[in-house]
Amino acid sequence: MKRSDFFRRTKRIVVKIGSSSITESGTISSLKISKFASDIAELKKMGYEVAVVTSGAISSGAGVLKLSRNNLTIPEKQAFAAVGQAVLMNEYRKCFEKLGYNIGQILLTEDDMRSRKRFLNARNAMDSLFKLNVIPVINENDTVTVSEIKFGDNDTLSAHVFNLIEADLLILLSDIDGFYHELTDPEPVYEIFKITDDIRRRAGGAGTSHGTGGMYTKVNAAEMIMRFGGMMIVADGREPGILSKIMSGERKGTLFAGEIIKINERKKWISMRKTRGSVRIDDGAVTALLNGKKSLLATGIIDIQGKFDMGDIIDITDKDKKIIAKGIVNYKSEEMFIIKGKKTAEIKSLLNGQFFDEVINRDDMIIL
Ligand code: GLU
Repeated sequence: MKRSDFFRRTKRIVVKIGSSSITESGTISSLKISKFASDIAELKKMGYEVAVVTSGAISSGAGVLKLSRNNLTIPEKQAFAAVGQAVLMNEYRKCFEKLGYNIGQILLTEDDMRSRKRFLNARNAMDSLFKLNVIPVINENDTVTVSEIKFGDNDTLSAHVFNLIEADLLILLSDIDGFYHELTDPEPVYEIFKITDDIRRRAGGAGTSHGTGGMYTKVNAAEMIMRFGGMMIVADGREPGILSKIMSGERKGTLFAGEIIKINERKKWISMRKTRGSVRIDDGAVTALLNGKKSLLATGIIDIQGKFDMGDIIDITDKDKKIIAKGIVNYKSEEMFIIKGKKTAEIKSLLNGQFFDEVINRDDMIIL
């Protein structure tokens, strides 16, 4: 299949640019941003709707404050981001204005996506920006986020934005021209249709020293969007005109493409959420979930991990702690310890108060 065949139905694109592609010796480069903006404008001319996810707030803050971005405490990072985000947006505004486009700033946290209502509000805001032909420029709201409510890196944030705006393609621009099986290979892999354990390992695996922009977070982002048939490309942001080259069908970067699966929007939203804990279930419950399409009952639960409230999203794992599903839980963790392994009929006498038949209802669950 030719590259252009993949893009035949593509309308909405999220482009993520990493700090390294828009900074020069640690400070924001107006020249690099203006080149990037021109390339985005080319996509607009080709008829695509484009949202930009940009990094660089903290680097930019460091440049303005003339301080190093190394060894910062969390509040210092937040302060640097507050200073830098304004400067960063001003650069984008100036560059896009020259090209005849307005931009809109969106700062997101994982917490904003946690309630389905807030998620839909954010989606409506983005839709309005597209209708107004404004280019949304998105970053994590680093000034107010601490680790529990953080996406953590902008590759992950981009996958969430992709889902939020129901995009067709995510392009991650970085300082590497694709995914390599072996770093000594002359060319990156052209297409990937499934994220295997081998790919994950080659991408660096969790626990290695890859920073926020490493290949590991990119492969994770690919996995998140491929689950529902999304497409992602990792390409070299330093190459002039890279975006227009990609969309003209040139063989650039690595394309990750998932098989299209029809899935209910709410379940898709559940699958993208951070979890607050997990329950380990026995083999009978695994079969009931996977083959019987049943809800999760207390009787099949062996173990509970983490502290969560009713309404939080948690992982469901098998005996070997492999995650098999995710869902919205009807009981808080303290209650779960009391009712685990018990028959539904017994729950009422064990807990005083609210009573649900299922720990996680089938409609509130996604099998992974
Ligand atoms: N949000 C961070 C910033 O603007 C960047 C995070 C990342 O590059 O992954 O500085």
